[in-house]
This record gives sequence, C-alpha cells and structure tokens, in this order.
Amino acid sequence: MMMRVHSIRGNDFKLDGGAMFGHAPKSLWKNWYLPDRFNRIGLASRSLYVRTDEHHLLCDTGIGNYLDAKLAKIYGVDVSEHRLIQNLKAIGVEETRIDFVILSHLHFDHAGGLIVKGSQPLQLHFPNAKYVVGRVHFERAANPHQRDRASFVKGLTDALQESGRLLLVDKETVDGLEKVVSFHYSQGHTPGKLHSLFQGAKEKVFFAGDLAPGVDWVNLPITMGYDRQPETLVDEKKKIFDRAINENWLMFYNHDHRIAASRISIHKNRYEAVQQLNRLADWACD
Ligand SMILES: [Zn+2]
Repeated sequence: MMMRVHSIRGNDFKLDGGAMFGHAPKSLWKNWYLPDRFNRIGLASRSLYVRTDEHHLLCDTGIGNYLDAKLAKIYGVDVSEHRLIQNLKAIGVEETRIDFVILSHLHFDHAGGLIVKGSQPLQLHFPNAKYVVGRVHFERAANPHQRDRASFVKGLTDALQESGRLLLVDKETVDGLEKVVSFHYSQGHTPGKLHSLFQGAKEKVFFAGDLAPGVDWVNLPITMGYDRQPETLVDEKKKIFDRAINENWLMFYNHDHRIAASRISIHKNRYEAVQQLNRLADWACD
C-alpha cells in the first residue's frame, strides 16, 4: 500500500514563553526560543498530511485564520489567509479532497483551522471529511474545566456535531483505516488526547501533538504550563519514546519553529531528538 507523508505549515502564532515551558526557567528556554518584547515566542502550527492509495488524511488543522482582530493581535497571527489550505493547494490538494481530519484535541491552536473565517454560527472547512475526535476528549471540549476553558473554541463542538460527519473514537482504529493508522490516547496534556501512529511498511510516523510540541520538549521534564497533569505527561512521554526508539518511529512535531520530525534516542539517561528534519515532503513510508 502506498503511503506518503507531508508536513504542511499553517498560520504561525505566538504564545507566552513562560507558559510554553512550564516550570523551566527563562534563563534556560530563552536559548531555545527568543522571546519578543511581550515575552511571546514564535510557534508553528504544522499539520501532517498523509496520502494513501485510497485516502487523503490530515492530522490537525493548526490555528487557522478565524480569530478576530483583537485575538489575532494577542496571538500574533496574520489572519489575511488560511495558510494550511493555501499550502495544501500548493502541493495539488484541494480541501474538498481530504476525507479524514484527525484532531489530536480541540484546543484552538489545533482545531481553529477548521473554522471558516467570519462564520457565525461556525462553518467548517474540509466539507467532505469525517472529523475524527477522541470520545473522552470531545466530552471535555463540550464541558471544559475553568482552568482550560480559554483553550477551547466556543461553539465548535456543536458545529462538529451538526456537520453529521463527526466520528468519535475510543478504540485503536476506525473502519477503513485499520491498515493505515492506529490510535493512542494520553491524559497529561488534556483528557483523552488522540495520537495517530501511521504505519507504512518501511516507516512509522507518530503524531506527538502537545505531548512533545517540539524538539525541546523531548527532554522528559520539560512540560508546558498548559498541561493539565505534567507528571502524568512525563510518564506518558517516556512510554511513547521507549517505543519510538525500539521501533525507530519518526516523531512529528506540530509547534516547533524549525523542526518537523526526528528520531528519538537516549544518551546518558536523557531522551534526545536526533536526525532532525525541517520538513517532510512526499516522504515514503511504503
Ligand atoms: Zn493543546
């Protein structure tokens, strides 16, 4: 079975550097990301596009361009165009061809790209796709906690439900995709977060999502202030990385400002991102 993967950049955005690096001191993280005068760091919203003989799959949609002028300014987003959709077009893929959008979770910087700019009630991009969301996570997004409410988009769970194309998952895969992807769930960043492992004959690619948003979070104790249970997340990262090392997975990063994917290795008890790639272009997994 043919399987090719591409990293596709969406709209860049900015978040507070301290919030992105949790309890790590600024004296450390400023060596990795240089903050601007508002202490924000520049982040990518990078999606993974997977093409097989039968399917066009997209993992996450980035922040998109739906934010109003005030929020766009706060998050440093240029909302004049939807870069993910433009960049898919640039490799010959119209949004209408995507048949599955797999959402790791529904935080606005991962699912915002679904939303058609200016629509109210919300209209969704990718009109022919099934939207795959973890069942447990969907519940959280529909009923957020006070602490993470600001990370979700009001009205998005309703729009997904009303699309008639929402597919809630709680198993290892879904009908029709058994040979393409297996699903893994984590709880540390947000309840029921969905991770996709694409399994070609030659290459396995793991969508890390916010388990490790970039190479600097591969170091186990580095977590985000946004993580709901950082200690759980560290334990989950370790388990995933041990498998990644044993099975030589390619780890895919959605927020890293430079790096799209890497292998994982361990050196003197410290996990490291090695063989770093700044993009995946028609990368053969078959
Ligand atoms: Zn998140």
